[in-house]
Amino acid sequence: MRALSELAAFECALGDPTDRGGAFSFARCAELDRAEEFPADICRLLDELGLPRQYVPAEFGGGLASYEQAMQRIRLVARRDLTVAIAHGKTYLGSVPVWVGGSAAQACRLGADVLGGAVVSLGLTEPEHGSDLLASDVTATPAGAGWLVDGEKWLINNATRGDLLAVLARTADGAGPRALSLLLVDKRRLPAGSFQHSPAVRTHGIRGADISGITFTAAPVPAGAVIGPVGTGVETTLKALQLTRTMCAALSLGAADHALRLGLRFALEHRLYDRGLIDLPHARRILAEAYTDLLVAEALSLVAARSVHTLTGELSVTSALVKYFVPATVEELVGRLGQLLGARAFFTGTYADGMFQKVERDHRVVGIFDGNTLVNLNALINQFGRLVRGYRDGSADQAGLAAAATFTAPLPAFDRDALTLLARRGSSLVQSLPACVDELQALAGAGVVPAELAGHAKQIREAVDDLHARLAAHRPSRDVPAAAFTLAKRYTWAAAAAACMQLWLRNRAGRTGELWAGGLWLDAALRRTLRRFQPALPDTDDAVFDRLAGCLRQQYAAGQLFSVQPFPLAEAAGLAEAPGLAEAPGLAEASGPAEASR
Ligand SMILES: Cc1cc2nc3c(=O)[nH]c(=O)nc-3n(C[C@H](O)[C@H](O)[C@H](O)COP(=O)(O)OP(=O)(O)OC[C@H]3O[C@@H](n4cnc5c(N)ncnc54)[C@H](O)[C@@H]3O)c2cc1C
Repeated sequence: MRALSELAAFECALGDPTDRGGAFSFARCAELDRAEEFPADICRLLDELGLPRQYVPAEFGGGLASYEQAMQRIRLVARRDLTVAIAHGKTYLGSVPVWVGGSAAQACRLGADVLGGAVVSLGLTEPEHGSDLLASDVTATPAGAGWLVDGEKWLINNATRGDLLAVLARTADGAGPRALSLLLVDKRRLPAGSFQHSPAVRTHGIRGADISGITFTAAPVPAGAVIGPVGTGVETTLKALQLTRTMCAALSLGAADHALRLGLRFALEHRLYDRGLIDLPHARRILAEAYTDLLVAEALSLVAARSVHTLTGELSVTSALVKYFVPATVEELVGRLGQLLGARAFFTGTYADGMFQKVERDHRVVGIFDGNTLVNLNALINQFGRLVRGYRDGSADQAGLAAAATFTAPLPAFDRDALTLLARRGSSLVQSLPACVDELQALAGAGVVPAELAGHAKQIREAVDDLHARLAAHRPSRDVPAAAFTLAKRYTWAAAAAACMQLWLRNRAGRTGELWAGGLWLDAALRRTLRRFQPALPDTDDAVFDRLAGCLRQQYAAGQLFSVQPFPLAEAAGLAEAPGLAEAPGLAEASGPAEASR
């Protein structure tokens, strides 16, 4: 309960986004986007509200103690505006290499800097090298007690506005990963003339963001700027990306909430053929499916965020499947909602301040940066052998998985030393799927869930068994065949289904609302997943999706976040005066008593 109250308090402090005069309103964000102007005032507001504390681990002086909570806060910012979430959240991404690989003293110093308002960037990409980090050309050459940095980093979020930059640089000759190191470059301490900014590029989405570059010319940095031992730059980067890729899900979840809210609002307002658009079964189905897909993406994101604490050694797999599945699912979802909005999805100003087309444009970048879609699928392909062995053994870290999937379970502190480049055990989440299916079948036998739901779960298990047989037949090669990417995508569907099963099973006790009772949202989620595996399946889903559309409307009417554990948003009437969340409209009905005990 406390965690949700804190989130609601943060959301409330951001103000009602539908209030056109508000500092962080939809209208203001649209205006800034049209002017391609950096949202400086809104970022300052987030600083004043203490968001940077969520970027600094508690052990280094900040307030980041739960990756789930941090994800939810960024999601709340992102549901208003992705430009702001990406521009402000960059400080977390830029700092992670130090949290993961730096000394305690270096991390505490940076922590104090971030709490004081410093903006930190991540400098990996170069003009000639996108995903190919090993090809990095920027160099750091020993000079006296420190280093001289030379070369250009480009397409860097906040390269110009930022104060510090974690830079991946070549510190030795040779092609291997040990030739690269990470350095924390403090621009405020560089002599004039030793660096120059490249102008911000104009972008299709997040138009106000500072996506620019920086060129170093014999820029002197002290020995203490190196993050971890010299030669560990690639290892630290890959470990840091496991955290940042997981957290990127918050951006997609926020975008999905925003797009779905606009789509539902339109369907409720718009009339044609003498009735409301919402009354057309096909329109209702689009909305219910979008809602389901959002809940599936949420389930995987929440389990992954909690896994940072409890299944840390599996994060190389978990982060890759989240970074593929969540942005890809939300991109599809936004596209389908765009069809529902028709012409209004195309307007830049006249309908809802043109926010729909802005969300659609802005969100496209989430699948591109921080490891694009194919890079993440490739990361899964590299581990097919381990994933197959884990599934065949049926091995899983049961305690870690249960803690990741149970909202009320306390989370242990994140242990950076438990991060590994390869998941030795595979994925406990996917490997638990057969056991979840058995549990659901037993519950169907006891009349707790519909037999059809358990039947769908069983069909998904068969598809996942078959998938693992195909993964086993894959032979690693330098030229990864296109078919392997298809298999990796299917693996992410298996993980999403497993996350839904886990989340419903571990949190169902005591929940009486329509969304949870009888497994309604799980039923819809499994239908959607099964259809991914078997697109030609006959459509018998109307009743389930109609009921789910009812839950969606209920959360909308109550001004709640679209979620399996909803809470009131700032636009919910009377939230500011509400003494506690229990009184919030619709909350008890939608989330059930188990939530109230949190
Ligand atoms: C708005 C924005 C903000 C950014 N912010 C930052 C930042 O703060 N810091 C930073 O360091 N970088 C940043 N980037 C850069 C971003 O991380 C890179 O764009 C990204 O890594 C991909 O690089 P690329 O677009 O140059 O494409 P490339 O990696 O060169 O890819 C080109 C094509 O090759 C495909 N491809 C790549 N790898 C594989 C593979 N293994 N198998 C099959 N196909 C593959 C890609 O899918 C793509 O189709 C940002 C980019 C944008 C657009």
